[in-house]
Amino acid sequence: MAQFINMSQKENESVNLAEFMPLALRRIVVLGGGESGAGAAVLAKKQGFDVFVSDASEIKSKYKDILEKYGVVYEENGHTEALILNANEIIKSPGIPDKAPIIKKIKEKNIPIISEIEFAGRYTDAKMICITGSNGKTTTTMLTYFILKNAGLNVGLAGNVGDSLAMQVAGKNFDYYVIELSSFQLDGMYDFKADIAILLNITPDHLDRYNYEMQNYIDSKLRILQNQTEKDVFIYWNDDPIVSKEIEKLRPAISLYPFAETKKNNVKAYTDRETVIIETPNGTFNMEEELVALTGKHNLYNSMASGLAAKLLDIKDDVIRQSLSDFKGVAHRLEKVANVRGVAYINDSKATNVNSCWYALQSMKTPTVLILGGTDKGNDYREIESLVMQKCRALIFLGLDNSKLHAFFDDKMEFIFDARSMKEAVEQAYEIAQKGDTVLLSPCCASFDLFQNYEDRGRQFKQCVVQL
Ligand code: ADP
Repeated sequence: MAQFINMSQKENESVNLAEFMPLALRRIVVLGGGESGAGAAVLAKKQGFDVFVSDASEIKSKYKDILEKYGVVYEENGHTEALILNANEIIKSPGIPDKAPIIKKIKEKNIPIISEIEFAGRYTDAKMICITGSNGKTTTTMLTYFILKNAGLNVGLAGNVGDSLAMQVAGKNFDYYVIELSSFQLDGMYDFKADIAILLNITPDHLDRYNYEMQNYIDSKLRILQNQTEKDVFIYWNDDPIVSKEIEKLRPAISLYPFAETKKNNVKAYTDRETVIIETPNGTFNMEEELVALTGKHNLYNSMASGLAAKLLDIKDDVIRQSLSDFKGVAHRLEKVANVRGVAYINDSKATNVNSCWYALQSMKTPTVLILGGTDKGNDYREIESLVMQKCRALIFLGLDNSKLHAFFDDKMEFIFDARSMKEAVEQAYEIAQKGDTVLLSPCCASFDLFQNYEDRGRQFKQCVVQL
């Protein structure tokens, strides 16, 4: 079943001699010894390939233990070209960019490069529910998994969350997988097919990896549709201008299930008089909007996407309803931390771009003290300008270099403060916020100037709030 052709070779219809080799002679090199790389190596080993793992940095001991347990040969802190360029196929971790020198050399030799998900997909017949988008992937993936699990399905969670798909395919026997896919994973996917594909939205992100061409990033996201037939399902946000334009262009011959805030055209999930309605061939699902646990319009969309997938899998209405109302959300995404003297504190540290902060602000129902700032990724703050003016009592800039934020907001807002640590930011917010207000950490920026990552930033926020 293994195939050794990539898209460009397919176009040329060339024959790959490796297809005729016994598996034990076929060499698979896995680049990157992290979660996906270790999983891919174990699966390849179990399938009888000659496997080698190479990582430019140190491999975590957890993954070294796994490789050793399965007898996989590996190297770390550098790549030995001679041991890599003799591969029949390369499985690349999503974090390795195309401009890495070793990738250039592999491409020069025309060795096919695939992702771990593509590889793992060859060895399972499970139904694949795949979720991508610029924002909301993790939330929707976790929510969909939660519903399927509550329905008693034999389901695994994979992709950017949970254990790697390859490791689960190697050791478990799930009937369904809910998989979070980034554009980087999609880039290495060719023959893989999603039975249910969900595309939440497309806004500019990671453009540095796409030659600063938005269309390259869009094309990458749309790979989630490749190989789908009319029996397969595509769920997408109808009001996303980019996605709807692409669908108009492509007119894919698959079952389309768009969702939107209100009913129009062919929309299959929408709200009407504060009720969420989901229409499928398996019947119509209704639920009062206020019973849906996740708050904010963006989360309503995420809930509709998950609900559509669940209903199309014929999960019972009461299971979907109960799951949508019980779901606790995912840490660092509009996470309610505490109420201190009548002020609510919300941790949205995962809002690393302006669009996700927009949705956070949009869901605020009280005057808000907004903590934002960090490493700017080319942000355009015009997107949140009117919501900030409407909803924010004050802004606290938390970053090493707040000059861009000052340049944009100084003449628009009366109360602006700078903080150099989370403690300082939270204490300032505590001083400024009035009873009934909300203090929202939704930074619009990456966290690497002052924190290890967004989780560290969110954890520090929660700690400082608890210590107030
Ligand atoms: P991802 O995995 O795509 O980064 P997450 O679920 O981790 O998405 O959420 C990232 C950020 O985006 C959070 O701040 C969250 O509140 C916000 N967000 C979640 N869903 C959406 C959506 N559908 N549209 C826009 N922003 C969203």
